[in-house]
Parts: sequence; C-alpha cells; structure tokens
Amino acid sequence: LNVDVKLGVNKFRVDEENPHIVLVDNPDRDELNKLIKACPANLYKLADDGSVRFDYAGCLECGTCRVLCGDTILQKWEYPQGTFGIEFRFG
Ligand code: SF4
Repeated sequence: LNVDVKLGVNKFRVDEENPHIVLVDNPDRDELNKLIKACPANLYKLADDGSVRFDYAGCLECGTCRVLCGDTILQKWEYPQGTFGIEFRFG
C-alpha cells in the first residue's frame, strides 16, 4: 500500500468545539510556505485570493508545524483532548 492509501484508512474524531491547532492572524507568508510543503496531511493551503486555508480536522498530530514554525504561525498547538483526534490504522 502506498502512503496515501494507508493515510486514507485512518479514523478521525474531530472536536468541533475546541480546535487543537489555531493559526495566528495574518501568518508570515515565508513561514506558511514551509508548512504548505511540509505538512504530511496537506492541511495548509493558499486560496486563489491569497488567503490561508487550514483545517485541523485531518491532522496527523505529527508536530511538524510546531517544530518548524512554532508561534510564528501557531497561536495554539495542543494534542486533541480525551478520545478526540486521529486513530492510526497502519502503525
Ligand atoms: Fe500537519 Fe502535522 Fe501540523 Fe497536523 S501536526 S497540521 S499533520 S504538520
């Protein structure tokens, strides 16, 4: 199985009331470009109008964004609480 197929079988329980990752307002574009390339779940995107698109719902909880950019991009980064978050099906 390739990586996309393996990731596709993971299960997510999303905490709609309490995002575990929140971005700062107007994140630095150079820092954001790092995350667009580095996030393995491809959650950081630029829209056609240049605005930032981010959806924490598919987060793999790898911590890459936190290590790469920390508070230059992230207002909040925590693991999801309780039983929320990703359930890996392939290690
Ligand atoms: Fe992407 Fe990993 Fe950051 Fe989640 S923790 S948003 S998967 S880089």
